[in-house]
Amino acid sequence: MTFTTDIDVARSRRLVAGSSVILHCHHYNSRLQKAIEGATAVDGRSLWMASAEASWTGVLLRALDGVSGPHERWQRCLELYQFLGFGRLQVPDGELPETKVVALASHFVEGWSAREPERTEPVCSFAAGFLQAAAWVALGRAVSFEEVACQQGRAPACEFVLRPRTGPAPRPIEQVVARAGDAPMKPIAPVRPGVDEGKIVAAVSSMPIAGDDRGLIPAFNVFLASMPADFYNHASVTFLAAMREAGMGALGRRLLMQVAEICGLNTFSGIRSSAEWDALIAPMCHDPADEMVGLVAVSNALGWGSWRVMDLVPGESLRLVAGNGYEAEGQLELVGPSLEPCCVMLTGVSAGLMDLVYGTGSVRERVGQFAAVEHRCRAAGAECCEFLAEEAA
Ligand SMILES: [Zn+2]
Ligand SMILES: [Zn+2]
Repeated sequence: MTFTTDIDVARSRRLVAGSSVILHCHHYNSRLQKAIEGATAVDGRSLWMASAEASWTGVLLRALDGVSGPHERWQRCLELYQFLGFGRLQVPDGELPETKVVALASHFVEGWSAREPERTEPVCSFAAGFLQAAAWVALGRAVSFEEVACQQGRAPACEFVLRPRTGPAPRPIEQVVARAGDAPMKPIAPVRPGVDEGKIVAAVSSMPIAGDDRGLIPAFNVFLASMPADFYNHASVTFLAAMREAGMGALGRRLLMQVAEICGLNTFSGIRSSAEWDALIAPMCHDPADEMVGLVAVSNALGWGSWRVMDLVPGESLRLVAGNGYEAEGQLELVGPSLEPCCVMLTGVSAGLMDLVYGTGSVRERVGQFAAVEHRCRAAGAECCEFLAEEAA
């Protein structure tokens, strides 16, 4: 495999083949898909596919820069998909795709089968969007892919068949402004004296995060994937715009925040009970407040942007500040300044962190015990984004 992940520690960014990637787990990705594709007021399924195709088109154009020959270009696309943790795709005869492509493993099937094993309809629309981008960027072929069998429906492999394409050829995401300055956070004094945040960030950043021979990344008791930031931002921006147009903007925001809150709970609960946590971070922690600071430090290695705990009243409230959260950067790049705070993922995760550290009961019972609000947002003109999570009323 020829890819590496470059870490920009000062800005809390991860870069692969020239694109910014964001680590999230299979719970978050499959729930986000369900929230967007499942929305009935808008054509969520088309929005999800369009975001996958457009974001991958840009990512693959950058990744194939200087690579020539159709076989090499096609193979590099599949290798990148596998490296980033989405699964392993291949053409059955090992040649270029003429009729079908199969997936031997799928990050999204892992997510759906963990939560809704009874579902049997195909779940890999994200992979179909990727394949459409890859066929176009690598081979100059504008085609559609449809998943006709899926491991979620107990098929031995997911199967994508080529179809003639009716619409225009895939296009990369258009940006209204050049990439924003993306300033790093200024260093501040340690919030909790015993918790060495820099050491945690450095250790987690240096972990080898790459798809295994199935194209999956099992780590911290979850399956991680390095998602192109452009995908999350495009999906969120276009979904919220469509929901606003349908008169349901508030519901759309609530949906995405709840997905992130549950993700915060699941992912960080997996992280907190992992061998990696026990070895590195647990020895620094003497109480739940230390754990909170440790968890936020871990998240600074995930590519979300740099954010810090500013105030923590144990059991009551948490104030976090993000200098360059990926959602604010994406909003500025794709749409321009926003009238209101727009970082729904970080808002939801703020609540999820409090649910996890100070909530009671099972993971499921903790959802909603805390609620978070973004008071200031970089995309709405503030210097940074600020989140306050408090006990829910
Ligand atoms: Zn599938
Ligand atoms: Zn924001």
